[in-house]
Amino acid sequence: MHPRFAKILDQLPTSLRDVVTPMLGDDFAASFSQDQIQQLLAASQLAERELRLALLPLAAACSVAPISRFFVGAIACGLSGRWYLGANMEFAGQGLFHSVHAEQSAISNAWLSGETGISEITVNYTPCGHCRQFMNELSTAKALKVSLPDTISTLQAFLPHSFGPADLDISDALMSPQHHDLTLSSDDALVLAALAAARQSYAPYSQDFAAVALEFNDGRIFCGRYAENAAFNPSLPPMQMACAHAVLNGADLGEVRRAVLIENSKGQISQQDAARSVLKALGKVELEYQAV
Ligand SMILES: [Zn+2]
Repeated sequence: MHPRFAKILDQLPTSLRDVVTPMLGDDFAASFSQDQIQQLLAASQLAERELRLALLPLAAACSVAPISRFFVGAIACGLSGRWYLGANMEFAGQGLFHSVHAEQSAISNAWLSGETGISEITVNYTPCGHCRQFMNELSTAKALKVSLPDTISTLQAFLPHSFGPADLDISDALMSPQHHDLTLSSDDALVLAALAAARQSYAPYSQDFAAVALEFNDGRIFCGRYAENAAFNPSLPPMQMACAHAVLNGADLGEVRRAVLIENSKGQISQQDAARSVLKALGKVELEYQAV
């Protein structure tokens, strides 16, 4: 078990702790299957919403917040029935705009795991405006519920008179399946991982279909896809998503040995400078870059 979970297990009800602990082994991918959820419901005797609230300390334990020391956890319910953890992430020494919010982290976790929407998100603090706007881009934005320790409501109630993709004549949505025609010839597994992720990225405003693949010293690879937003600033860059996903899976960002960014050569913007800026916070890894 990752030490970050061992530290907070005593925050869980005993009946829940005994059943969830064996699920938190080294292969724990920061999500719970439907079978696991049923086991947790039966053991804890909690309703689903209460169970998610009780599990939030596990999500918040994944937080990396060296600047704010404010630890946010989120759990997104994928349409498949699986639950995905997420946590906020800050990059020491770099601009605050590089930060990943817990809701973005949980949604990225679900999206990278093949989900095409989420039905509900549970958070230990009320979502900030940035996250409300980010979630308004989702395929399920109209029906999405936001669950907090003391209340549950729809996203639309949290974001009245909202601005979204339809205001820019975009009918596509974040987490809807994407298949962009990007090609390159390579036998480098890391490059091919980044290419596959870029093909599934979401960038209807700039066409900067982009993704980052990070390789760690133990050989593991984690990817991040670019997730664009109608309000532009809440867009989640691919480097941040890759870092957040790696940390959720227990990786140490100090162990990154290679970083590859692949993006569409015909896009209106580039992720290069932003990605390099984040990499500086991680160490001396040089960004490998290809526009295709
Ligand atoms: Zn937020």
